[in-house]
Amino acid sequence: MIPDSSSGWRTLLLLLGGSVLFFASAACAQPAPGPAGKPQPGIDVLDYDFHLSLADTTDRIEGTATVRLRVTTDTLTAVRLDLVGPPAEGGDTGMAVSTVSEEGSDVPYRHTDNILRIAPTAGLSAGQTHTFRIRYAGVPADGLIIGTNRHGDRTFFGDNWPNRARHWLPVEDHLSDKATAEFRVTAPAQYEVVSNGALVSDSTTGDTRTTHWRTDVPLPTKVMIIGVADFAVDTVATVDGVPVQSWVYPEDREAGFKDLGQAPPILRFFEENLGPYPYEKLANVQSTTRYGGMENAAAIFYSEEAVADGQDSTPLLAHEIAHQWYGNTVTEADWPHLWLSEGFATYLTALYLEHARGPAALTKFMSDARQTVAQFHAENPDTPLVDTTFSDPNQLLTSNPYQKGAWVLHMLRHEVGTATFWDGLRAYYDRYRNENASTRDFRRVMEDVSGQDLAGFFSQWTRRAGHPVIEGTWRHDASADECVVTLRQTQDTAPFRVPVDVGLTNERQRTTTLVMRDRETQARIDCARAPSSVTLDPFTRLLGTFSIERAE
Ligand SMILES: [Zn+2]
Repeated sequence: MIPDSSSGWRTLLLLLGGSVLFFASAACAQPAPGPAGKPQPGIDVLDYDFHLSLADTTDRIEGTATVRLRVTTDTLTAVRLDLVGPPAEGGDTGMAVSTVSEEGSDVPYRHTDNILRIAPTAGLSAGQTHTFRIRYAGVPADGLIIGTNRHGDRTFFGDNWPNRARHWLPVEDHLSDKATAEFRVTAPAQYEVVSNGALVSDSTTGDTRTTHWRTDVPLPTKVMIIGVADFAVDTVATVDGVPVQSWVYPEDREAGFKDLGQAPPILRFFEENLGPYPYEKLANVQSTTRYGGMENAAAIFYSEEAVADGQDSTPLLAHEIAHQWYGNTVTEADWPHLWLSEGFATYLTALYLEHARGPAALTKFMSDARQTVAQFHAENPDTPLVDTTFSDPNQLLTSNPYQKGAWVLHMLRHEVGTATFWDGLRAYYDRYRNENASTRDFRRVMEDVSGQDLAGFFSQWTRRAGHPVIEGTWRHDASADECVVTLRQTQDTAPFRVPVDVGLTNERQRTTTLVMRDRETQARIDCARAPSSVTLDPFTRLLGTFSIERAE
């Protein structure tokens, strides 16, 4: 996901080469009430089947959710699902449950404090599988955004990140519980419906239309959505058997098809380098998402202005398409490991730009990202990449998981070598496909693939805040035909263990790498003549800030 500019993400403009990709959307909805970042205990949802009825005359939706789940503990007295009910202080929004049943028989339930507690009279025990059918209705306060698009036309778009599915779907609303899903949507006949997975059926009876989508790939709820609007649809290409489609508002057909039509080479690059695309199709969809882009599985939603502004959306497309591998298919184990999603999508964007536009594009991207990281660190000196101190996942939307996460991958690439790095990304995808993974899991894969001990690297860059501040001096020792380079880490905290490239330039540049372990390092480098300039980190490979001056 890429946040919207309205959330203070001016720095992402820098990151994306200065192009204005983000626009303020409608005012942000309130965060979901309830234990936002926690899973419900004792259950593993296997499959969701949602039937939803939508109308033009009301924002009220009617739903039937069939939830198949396994009980994982003997101590459970009730299955708890997240579902936001009517507000305690009264109001028109929230979902009201009318029945819960299993195999046609009513099951006792209680729906309070935005939790639906289902308590079968026969009790619950570990290993049991239950299939509950929940009938409910109401006006969603959030999660399913019902309103008008930029042309004043009525639209319905799911927008669940991080835990807003509970506003319109009874779910275990935590990214650690992935399940297959299908949506059967009955809506006025003039709308097209897009969702995750493959189209099963689409039929119109009178003035209503029922569209059925299903995915057999388990998804976290954060990327489980529908989009319902008057769409123009273009099948752009088929890449390795995967249909690539653009879904845009008819009024934005020309600009939208052109912009989203850039997806096929991006998909091809990631397929070739990461492994098979995980889903049945790739739809790129213009939408009213609050975000700049949101990586919903196989049906990515982009902000409606980003698609129609005539500017190049390549970095935005690359970011969201990369998420189909990392974030959606290999999902972070819990919110503190968000960088395994956002850092990967950010760095894979940089790698695509390197591939498509050359090494200078990568350098520019990483250099801009480094400025952003330094600025964030100056304002938040104690926040490490893996941040366990949050109470709401929205608080984690800083440059840390994005730009710093990308920088950790960039440095890891140089630590293990580019070919091994790609091997590691593929192996990580292969090992954790359709599952969840933590930072430690990723480290172990990279250690297995590289044969290197990466404990120090990961500890330093993911558990510790900050980066080295390196100040250097150099002088030319003519008597020895040597340059004497002295580097010092001047940050308040303990020294980092880092390789620092020193570039010496006369007619051409040559580079020596000094490994710093201590506060200060001095090295003598062969140089018959005094260089015209000496620079630190000339290839933009180390996260840090650098300065060096001549001592004589
Ligand atoms: Zn993202």
